[in-house]
Amino acid sequence: MSGGDPIERGGLTSTPSGPVHELMPGRAADLGPGTTVRRLVPTLGRRMVGAWCFLDHYGPDADGSMDVWPHPHTGLQTVSWLLAGAVRHEDSLGSDALLVPGALGLMTAGHGIAHAETSPESALLHGTQLWVALPEHVRDRAPAWDFHAALPAASLPGAAVRVILGSYDGATSPGTAYTPIVGLDVTVAGDAELVLEPGFEHAATAMTGAVEVDGALAPVGSLLYLGTGRNRLSLKGDGRMLLLGGEPFAERIVMWWNLVARSHEEVAEARGQWSDGARFGDVPGWSRRTDAPPLAIALKPRGRT
Ligand code: MN
Repeated sequence: MSGGDPIERGGLTSTPSGPVHELMPGRAADLGPGTTVRRLVPTLGRRMVGAWCFLDHYGPDADGSMDVWPHPHTGLQTVSWLLAGAVRHEDSLGSDALLVPGALGLMTAGHGIAHAETSPESALLHGTQLWVALPEHVRDRAPAWDFHAALPAASLPGAAVRVILGSYDGATSPGTAYTPIVGLDVTVAGDAELVLEPGFEHAATAMTGAVEVDGALAPVGSLLYLGTGRNRLSLKGDGRMLLLGGEPFAERIVMWWNLVARSHEEVAEARGQWSDGARFGDVPGWSRRTDAPPLAIALKPRGRT
């Protein structure tokens, strides 16, 4: 089956069909004790938004904690974006960074990297963890870690925008992206109107408060998929939302555990190379590591929906 075949499943189609409203409830995911995690991408109905292939929204939890031991990634970038608290990032390149609200942690896994994420103390923790699938020509590149202490801002009537990835109104994130993409943290106070790239598909979720997006509520804990073909997007309410967008990702991918690949065989190889220590390196200072789960099913490459 080619990637262009329209697939009807649950009333959704894989072919971009212009502006839509599809409200996708997130599901609970496990991150650590005392921390509430909502997995908003992938969901049953929608596996990607542009190259964005994973979104967890965690907290706010008064005594939240993160204690994620070293684990591997391939074929993707991770984006760490905090609203409150702090997370320490350590990786197999020797990076050691403290992520705090306003700072962007961007890890390009490429061929392979291992990292650990821990909260230095049990305190108010609120944030997001996103993954971006890398396209074919760079997905096997050397790994990299980039830390940006501050990101560019744009302001418009009724809203303040922080550009996490991509560009908005002339403000461009210093984070390197490999596909046409945008990720915005938008604080809404009243009525506002964003200008969008009509060739992108978009989706929104509230991280705090209540925000109406194009007349539809995009509540905390759900993802409002907005489709393609939008030049403008009206926002109304009082809260802070995440707007994700990008050119619809044309390649079919296999996503399993922390790995993005193109086939079952690639995943099985990477899993084996994590288990035998051949590929991903060690995170300095760590003797513990996260074991890969059993690979018990045959994985098939899948498209965006
Ligand atoms: Mn990770």
